[in-house]
Amino acid sequence: MKKTIVLIASIIIGLSTVACNSKKKEAKTEAQTEKAQNPVVARIAELKKAGYDIVDYHGHLKGGLTMEDLLEHSKETGIDYGVAFNAGVGFPITNDSTLLANYEQYKDYPVYMAMQAEGREWVTMFSKENIATFDYVFTDAMTWTDKKGRRMRLWIPEEVFVDDKDDFMDQLVDKIVGVMKNEPIDLYVNSTYLPDILQPEYDALWTDERMQKVIDAAVANDIAIEINARYKIPSASFIKKAKAAGVKFSMGTNNTDKNLGTLDYAIEMIDVCGLEPNDFFKPSKK
Ligand SMILES: [Zn+2]
Repeated sequence: MKKTIVLIASIIIGLSTVACNSKKKEAKTEAQTEKAQNPVVARIAELKKAGYDIVDYHGHLKGGLTMEDLLEHSKETGIDYGVAFNAGVGFPITNDSTLLANYEQYKDYPVYMAMQAEGREWVTMFSKENIATFDYVFTDAMTWTDKKGRRMRLWIPEEVFVDDKDDFMDQLVDKIVGVMKNEPIDLYVNSTYLPDILQPEYDALWTDERMQKVIDAAVANDIAIEINARYKIPSASFIKKAKAAGVKFSMGTNNTDKNLGTLDYAIEMIDVCGLEPNDFFKPSKK
């Protein structure tokens, strides 16, 4: 009798495991089908055939996303990846040894290795040799201290101080130009980002003159500018102006969770702004 119960129990357990596994498989197939039917994925395949490198140079292993998940997504969408590791004050990587340990952990995967330098202090925190082990380095101007000494992180509303919109914009543009002039970066990312409070006035606040200052600094310092798919920036008019000046572009997502997306805004801008394969940034190594 006991044996029969054990037997029945193990059959039930076995059956439910099979059901569970097949459910998992079904879910995976649905996600794959969704990606295969995504018109952006089809456009990416066309662009690659036409000679474009489709690379998301600003991916993060965040929100539980593993390198394996990222590579699977890469296979399904045709997008290659640059995986960026955040380094600077308040981040897990704060010195040469943590920077190198992180590099060693991931260097053998088929992705570009990127260092995302944080805050303005990073320049003195890491040695040149160790920075140079990465395929490229980028930063943004989302963390800075204003003339009144207030350190701001522009994506956190409580840490943003706008006494006067034009004065804020002028300070922001000066910061971006300063970053491009003084920091050894290949890419400038989250470009033209404005805090929530100013975003509705993006077009009015990013005047021709302000755009031109940023573009001139990018040209003078040979720095590429990111077209960011998450924030949908910079605007098409900025991109057209920058292209005319000879600026190179990178495409990037800056994901904070498992959703890497498919670079939709950047892919759209290729068509809207007539970007060609040689308008895009390429890391000097690899
Ligand atoms: Zn990032």
